[in-house]
Amino acid sequence: MKERIGIVGGGPGGLMLARLLQRQGMSVTVFERDAHADERPQGGSLDLHEDTGQRAIRAAGLEAEFAAAARPEDQGDRLYDEAGCLLFEHDGHEANRPEIDRSDLRRILLDSLAPGVVRWGQRVTGIASEGERIRILQEGGGELFDIVVGADGAWSRVRSFLTDVRPVYQGVTLLELGFDETRHPHAAALAGHGKMFAVGDNRAMILQRNGHGHLRFYCGVRMSEEAAAALSESGEQEIRARMADAFAAWALDLRGLVGEGNFIGVRPMYAMPIGTRWVTHPGITLLGDAAHLMSPFSGEGVNLALADAFDLAEALTQAIGMESIGVYEATMAARAEIAATGAAAGLTSVFSDDGPESVLTRFQERIQQG
Ligand SMILES: Cc1cc2nc3c(=O)[nH]c(=O)nc-3n(C[C@H](O)[C@H](O)[C@H](O)COP(=O)(O)OP(=O)(O)OC[C@H]3O[C@@H](n4cnc5c(N)ncnc54)[C@H](O)[C@@H]3O)c2cc1C
Repeated sequence: MKERIGIVGGGPGGLMLARLLQRQGMSVTVFERDAHADERPQGGSLDLHEDTGQRAIRAAGLEAEFAAAARPEDQGDRLYDEAGCLLFEHDGHEANRPEIDRSDLRRILLDSLAPGVVRWGQRVTGIASEGERIRILQEGGGELFDIVVGADGAWSRVRSFLTDVRPVYQGVTLLELGFDETRHPHAAALAGHGKMFAVGDNRAMILQRNGHGHLRFYCGVRMSEEAAAALSESGEQEIRARMADAFAAWALDLRGLVGEGNFIGVRPMYAMPIGTRWVTHPGITLLGDAAHLMSPFSGEGVNLALADAFDLAEALTQAIGMESIGVYEATMAARAEIAATGAAAGLTSVFSDDGPESVLTRFQERIQQG
């Protein structure tokens, strides 16, 4: 009998796994809660790294599609202090971490899948084991699979079957805004060809060039989990006003951005405890943020999700069962632990008393390492 594989979540990790398994002729179904691909904004630009994200793209046979949508010209970095002084600039031309919009990456992966593989508007409520098979549960029903993969992100419903460990608030909350370069040329000028950080006094702004003439802006401050929850419940004007207050001492060019652009949302930063592992189950595993959510300050999240998909597809196509999932999980967890340590250090160094100095040191070290 041919094994049936159910993937919960159609983000980059789940879709990449579906693509890789489909290429091996395996039976795969993706359950995605969104009603369709454009239901909600997909987030900003992602840079794909050679040994992880790009490796999975190659294995998926999607290099040409990726090359057509990627933006190698947008790998630059800038660092400003709170007075708006430029402390660091690097054009990133020789780097091999091309940027791609998250929505473009998702579209490439979706277009590569056979019709019907992704089932839209399917919110999974949990999973249950029945003998040697696993039921994916949804309101009013469920369906049996031989292997179930939780690729359902930060608040994974599949994860709770394997572990009680949950994401922990990291003490920092971001406001996310969208700009476009024609209406906001000063934002485009600040970002340069890539991304700019402005850092000072436990606060930070990040402005990132996206494709199609768009830019994403994040400003973040330290606050308690309760304050972050209250802020998330507030209206747009109140949220902007609270953030503007937090940046009142900053240069006008920077703090002015908080009142401009399109409001996208409030993003409290959560992460799974570093090194989270669980007892391997023969038919259930996790990948990407579901397994190892971390703050974006490593720039590794999507790369890890794609690398996990690559390793899991290799494991599942070689042999179905306990051993292959265990081997995958060991590799995945070791890789995630290194990145999560970097993400935690990155967040601490950006939101610190000596933020500009420590971020400058990190940028300079990165250039020295090549
Ligand atoms: C502000 C911000 C900036 C970031 N910047 C970067 C960056 O520059 N570089 C980088 O590498 N990473 C970045 N990341 C992290 C990156 O976006 C994630 O690590 C990556 O998207 C993880 O992919 P995933 O497939 O594991 O999960 P997700 O992308 O979260 O996808 C999960 C999918 O599961 C679906 N889902 C959830 N629950 C259910 C359910 N119950 N039933 C059915 N479907 C469900 C969701 O709708 C979603 O489509 C950033 C994250 C944030 C928040």
